[in-house]
Amino acid sequence: MPRSPQTVTLIGAGLNGPLLALGLVRRGFKVEIYERRPDMRRVPISAGRSINLALSVRGIHALAEAGLWRDMRKIIIPMKGRMMHSIHGELTFQPYGKDESEVINSISRADLNIALMNAAEAQGVKIFFQQRCVGVDLQTGTIQLCDEISGNERSVETDVLIGCDGSASAIRSEMLKGIRFNFSQQYLDYGYKELTIPDGPARKHVLETNALHIWPRGNYMLIALPNVDGTFACILFLPFQGQDSFAELASPQAVQEFFELRFPDALSLMPQLSQNFFANPTGAMVTIKCSPWHAAGKVLLLGDAAHAIVPFFGQGINCGFEDCTVLLQLLDPSRGNWEHTFREFEQARRVNTDAIADLALENFVEMRDRVADPRFLFRKKVELALEAKYPEIFVPKYSMVTFHRIPYGTAKTRGEIQDRLMAELCDGVNSLDDLDWTKADHLIRAQLTALEPA
Ligand SMILES: Cc1cc2nc3c(=O)[nH]c(=O)nc-3n(C[C@H](O)[C@H](O)[C@H](O)COP(=O)(O)OP(=O)(O)OC[C@H]3O[C@@H](n4cnc5c(N)ncnc54)[C@H](O)[C@@H]3O)c2cc1C
Repeated sequence: MPRSPQTVTLIGAGLNGPLLALGLVRRGFKVEIYERRPDMRRVPISAGRSINLALSVRGIHALAEAGLWRDMRKIIIPMKGRMMHSIHGELTFQPYGKDESEVINSISRADLNIALMNAAEAQGVKIFFQQRCVGVDLQTGTIQLCDEISGNERSVETDVLIGCDGSASAIRSEMLKGIRFNFSQQYLDYGYKELTIPDGPARKHVLETNALHIWPRGNYMLIALPNVDGTFACILFLPFQGQDSFAELASPQAVQEFFELRFPDALSLMPQLSQNFFANPTGAMVTIKCSPWHAAGKVLLLGDAAHAIVPFFGQGINCGFEDCTVLLQLLDPSRGNWEHTFREFEQARRVNTDAIADLALENFVEMRDRVADPRFLFRKKVELALEAKYPEIFVPKYSMVTFHRIPYGTAKTRGEIQDRLMAELCDGVNSLDDLDWTKADHLIRAQLTALEPA
């Protein structure tokens, strides 16, 4: 029998750490978190890695299970669809889902992080700040910590250690030193830069509030998500090198000219563009896959530490929170047998996290390029019409990922079949009235009904 209560130690009080801690403490474990950064509730620090996030059904489900979603509703802004901005300033709105219940939700990363830490601490989780994990013994779970203020190092013993320490995980680095650890990282040739559109008079948004704004420009794009204070958090995605790249934007004048030419309507709303541009770092984006996620029944990786993905499906934290849901479900029956739980967890999750990693890469092309194409917009209309007629069988890929908790792997497989089916159905068709519904019926029944249900 395990001695009770067991101590579970988490590295990282980012987004996944405190949510998982909350679930663990409620299941009777003693939970401690070590975080390398100062406490953002006391010291103003950047929340890092994008100012705000899009939360969708998987994240919401996990927050609801933790009893946090009701309060969070006050600090989110629902986004009903994409608002595309052409180079001439024309606007095209494309709803994300079949009706207004299918929205994604803009939330400040810092507000979410603070709410999670407050909730975890209120239930007895202890969070130690400015404690960097610098090493771990994977066999015993003994952690080496460095105090970021004094520079002193010490060891901490624990029953179980979970690395929630993000895409540059120190725990994963330790696993990488062992034998037969599979690891791949793939950086994009693109970087990102955070920018801001300030609020208008009376803290009102100067663009449509309930939309994710996109300026798609083929090889690159600008996006903007609304904040509750009336501002928009923008992210500019550009290649690092070459034409229209960060390398070319080396002076305030170059930035100004680039925006005048490529994003004129956004420029008119960004009086602090140059200051923002040069004050904020250029971030890199990486896909990380690895296995196994666990060692010796003592140590586990979760969230970005196990599977970092690029941000173009808005699923990184939704996927991480779904990790927490699955791990906590698996814990209940096999409590004490961590090795078994970790194995089951990886088996349940890895096929799905690999799938969302691929889907996120694909979605970059869709966002920066295809959303500006009238054929793409027509196909989206056809998809919604098919979903209305065959709601149990045909669910658009975007909706499977964003508005349903269908496993990502199933969404990917069904999505690929649906993509081929759509190409066949929409070829040479320009209006919903001209769609061959008999052919649609035949294709859908022949190709989708035998699959795992959507
Ligand atoms: C530009 C951008 C936009 C994004 N947009 C979205 C979105 O719209 N929707 C979405 O779902 N996801 C989005 N994501 C992904 C999302 O940010 C990540 O999936 C999420 O932050 C992962 O959470 P995590 O807790 O695993 O890691 P993190 O949030 O990175 O937290 C890790 C924590 O561990 C701490 N830490 C790291 N190393 C150590 C150490 N050695 N010792 C102690 N502490 C340590 C860090 O300080 C940090 O607090 C986006 C990402 C980017 C880059």
